Amino acid sequence: MSYSRMAYPEEGILLLRGKSKKGVVEVTGVVVPPAAVHSQGYSSFNWWMLPVDFSYLGVAHSHPSGVAEPSHQDLLHASGKIMVIMGYPYANESCLGVFDHNGNKVPFEVRRSQAE
Ligand SMILES: [Zn+2]
Repeated sequence: MSYSRMAYPEEGILLLRGKSKKGVVEVTGVVVPPAAVHSQGYSSFNWWMLPVDFSYLGVAHSHPSGVAEPSHQDLLHASGKIMVIMGYPYANESCLGVFDHNGNKVPFEVRRSQAE
């Protein structure tokens, strides 16, 4: 969310890493992709720049338009297990949409870390 706010009014994009088992995907961290390209229409980066052992789950990116639904182009470029879309104003998890690679909305929960 804070990354999205920093990127606004452009799209921000982050890689999700973590683990998945038995149909449950757990995101444990995010990585700013190398050489990310930000634009107001689309965010992308070069996959070949990623380390081979990357525990990659999918991509999170922001929609400055505020619509937390995947665009047609998002679905064309969907990869990984999940796609997370953050809609402006990026205030809390109600601004989040989580989708599978077919663009179907999937349930999610946000866990707070112990420190908070
Ligand atoms: Zn998008």
